[in-house]
Amino acid sequence: MTSGSAIDAHSADAVERLRGAGLRVTEPRRAVVDALRTRPHSSADELFEVVARTVPGTSLQSVYNALGDFVDAGLVRRIEPAGRPGLFELRVDDNHHHLVCSECGAVVDVDCVVGDAPCLTPSDAHGFVVHSAEVTFWGVCAPCTASAASRRAS
Ligand SMILES: [Zn+2]
Ligand SMILES: [Zn+2]
Repeated sequence: MTSGSAIDAHSADAVERLRGAGLRVTEPRRAVVDALRTRPHSSADELFEVVARTVPGTSLQSVYNALGDFVDAGLVRRIEPAGRPGLFELRVDDNHHHLVCSECGAVVDVDCVVGDAPCLTPSDAHGFVVHSAEVTFWGVCAPCTASAASRRAS
């Protein structure tokens, strides 16, 4: 997990992304984009913790508002693994999927094997025109598997 030390180097890119999405550039919005760059798959609360350090005085509500605007503008993708708060990421331009650890909640990107959405087709589409398939692979990550093994050994 990287700290906020390189924030300034990222700001130009954040401004670029906001303008590209047709959004007005504000300090909280820029800070939220920066936080998403260093911490993909973060919840609004986690992003607020980061943003509150870099832009003091930012409210949790303004982080929620910024994320809502980003999702609407297609700048940010929201994923919702069952039992978790909504998680946000900047990687929107591909049809990637996620591995989620059921022990510690770690979220990892996995590329879509097919590449184009929808990469899975239902056994019966019931007349639907299917746009996308969101796949969440649930399992136990390597560190959790290793610590479970060491607990058994002791
Ligand atoms: Zn884990
Ligand atoms: Zn992702």
